Amino acid sequence: MKYYSLNHKAPEVTFDEAVIKGIAPDKGLYFPENVPVLPASFWDRIETLSHNEIAYQVMQPFVGDSIDASSLREIVADVLSFDFPIVELEENVATLELFHGPTMAFKDVGARFMARCLGYFLEKREQTQEITVLVATSGDTGGAVARGFYKVPGIQVVILYPSGKVSDIQEKQLTTLGENITALEVDGTFDDCQAMVKRAFLDQEITSKRQLTSANSINVARWLPQCLYYIFTYKELKKNGKELVFSVPSGNFGNICAGMVAHHMGMPVQQFIAAVNSNNTIPRFMQSGDYAPAQTVATISNAMDVSDPSNFVRVLQLFENSRNTLSRKFTTHSYCDNATRAAMKEIHERLDYIADPHGAVGYLGLKEYLKEHPDSYGVFLETAHPVKFLPAVEPVVGKIMDLPEQVMGLMDREKIASRILDYESLKNSLK
Ligand SMILES: *Cc1c(COP(=O)(O)O)cnc(C)c1O
Repeated sequence: MKYYSLNHKAPEVTFDEAVIKGIAPDKGLYFPENVPVLPASFWDRIETLSHNEIAYQVMQPFVGDSIDASSLREIVADVLSFDFPIVELEENVATLELFHGPTMAFKDVGARFMARCLGYFLEKREQTQEITVLVATSGDTGGAVARGFYKVPGIQVVILYPSGKVSDIQEKQLTTLGENITALEVDGTFDDCQAMVKRAFLDQEITSKRQLTSANSINVARWLPQCLYYIFTYKELKKNGKELVFSVPSGNFGNICAGMVAHHMGMPVQQFIAAVNSNNTIPRFMQSGDYAPAQTVATISNAMDVSDPSNFVRVLQLFENSRNTLSRKFTTHSYCDNATRAAMKEIHERLDYIADPHGAVGYLGLKEYLKEHPDSYGVFLETAHPVKFLPAVEPVVGKIMDLPEQVMGLMDREKIASRILDYESLKNSLK
């Protein structure tokens, strides 16, 4: 499989090159030259296949010759070593819990897959120069990347996070690992962190000494394996014979775009719903055709505080770059924080379930669609465990008593982070 740049001004590359580079030299996102369609026999007998077998068959065409068959089987088995439960909350409404991985956010799957691929490529190339994964986080990405890359030989991870703007659990997840993981606490906002990372990628004094790569969802190894969540769900729900709808709480649109990839591979889906918070660039675009990002606003579903979603070009590419074609499979709605809190309350009181703010936004999008399509079966994605967002969740649903095992022990560990005041201090720490 070859990957081309969506800016069309860079050479095509193989999977391993796309993963190592992260972004194409013309600053475009890499995209597979064709989305493989799996044979009808795969979809017909999917209920007889294990998660590991499904994952191997789905990922193999994307990986091509870059990873040999037995190594790829080992990698997917290692990456998928936790559950992806579907919890039915009422008739025709279920939630897909994507928070059973080590950092309790759906980003674990992509981060672990990317880490293991990169580790494999470095070993195969017998590369002596280390790779530095440099990443800015507003909370969830950093933890998933830190855990995913922890102790992977040949890789250093440097994470920038905004001081005081991530939750306590998120901060501990970033700052307590040590070894090859370095956390830098930035006096500033997420945008400041992001700007410093971008500057470092263009800074020859740094890039002449370190090989840098990025680990956010622009990287194909982080983006593509997310299609597996949808395929595992289809496997479970196929037998009820209903039209399937997915509602995805969306920020950078990597997750929902991966779901659409699964659909293009042959998986039947009636509709994808992108549920967003007050950062509503995409709902406005779908209405008017005008792509006009506004200033990002802070919300209680802060992992989705994105006003210029980087993966939306990939969404459009999957649908012939046509808003019209896209609208046949894609609906999008925006919800403010008050609506999100009301949804968390309703889910708790009426359905006896605790959703995090992101999942609650997904629930709202799903309910809106099902009003018009009462016979469809809808699944909203729970993208993080509610304990990661306690300051938003507890005032609505009361104290959460059952702490998951991933949190136990974490809070007592010692935080190790260096403070970064400006770009020069980042530069010094990268030398
Ligand atoms: C990252 C994240 C999202 C947004 O996912 P995208 O792929 O960027 O659209 C939603 N919810 C949570 C909890 C996240 O961490």
